[in-house]
Amino acid sequence: MFFNNLGILGVAIFAILSAMIINNIVFGGINYMAAFGQSGGGENIVNGTPDVAENGDKKLAIITFDDGKKGQIQYAKRILDNYDYPATFSIICNNVSLSDHLDWHDIQQLERDGYDLASHSMSHTELEDIPMDIANYEISESKKCLLDNGVRDVRVFTYPKNGGSDNPAILKEVAKHYDMARTANDPLTFVKCGLTNSSLQDEKIDCTSFGENEEYGKYSIIGWSHDSEREDNGYNDEQMLQRFIDVVESQSGYNDGEEIGAIPIIIYHDIDTTSGFYTTSFELFKAEMKYLKDNGFIVISLLDLI
Ligand SMILES: [Zn+2]
Repeated sequence: MFFNNLGILGVAIFAILSAMIINNIVFGGINYMAAFGQSGGGENIVNGTPDVAENGDKKLAIITFDDGKKGQIQYAKRILDNYDYPATFSIICNNVSLSDHLDWHDIQQLERDGYDLASHSMSHTELEDIPMDIANYEISESKKCLLDNGVRDVRVFTYPKNGGSDNPAILKEVAKHYDMARTANDPLTFVKCGLTNSSLQDEKIDCTSFGENEEYGKYSIIGWSHDSEREDNGYNDEQMLQRFIDVVESQSGYNDGEEIGAIPIIIYHDIDTTSGFYTTSFELFKAEMKYLKDNGFIVISLLDLI
């Protein structure tokens, strides 16, 4: 699906991105300088002025859906199908088939049609609020639950309520069962930070420090919650579309030609006829996907990062 979208140019971009990710994450974690052709450094905190945006800089986006809501297959899937955009759907195992949630048929259909399925725990309890043995159960059993119910491949974990990705014991357990994990909440994930936390202060990039656990960077990949942003700011659809555009375009300050420095990983929840609490209207979602298409964005899968 991914390569079908891209053509030769896209494959070249993906190869560059993959090489950067491999340098940063898969083979040794902290080799930012190899990725960026700079000297010195090697620290977990990277301070530097972002590359100046230039016309022709490549732009990527990643689309994810949390909480396994019914509207994701009722409304979002047809738009994604239309654009042939990949996406990752995170399932709360105990909530499957509940009112307004996906059922197992829906989930299997998503996978058959080329989408990725991820675990979003058993019960959506914040992992740091419960004893470690229960947290371990939430992490490991939710993968087993998906596999036992016909999902063929579960490689991604997404943290319920974005909690636990800075807890070494939780990271260790997640790493035992999954290839990568996503949390939230920042607009962009920075390749320089091993795809983890990224907050901008005075135009400098401030990466999360993992101390001795920096090899776990790919288990705390940062996403941007589209819906918490709207809740926090009370945006209507028109304002939310503008904020979406600002976020996805903000990577341009960090990408240089085909060299990718930052990627927005967008997190949606429910999609319905009208926007509401953690719900995006079908029309807004359609407008946002159209914006990506009309403005040259390449949509890749979360799993394309590793
Ligand atoms: Zn959630």
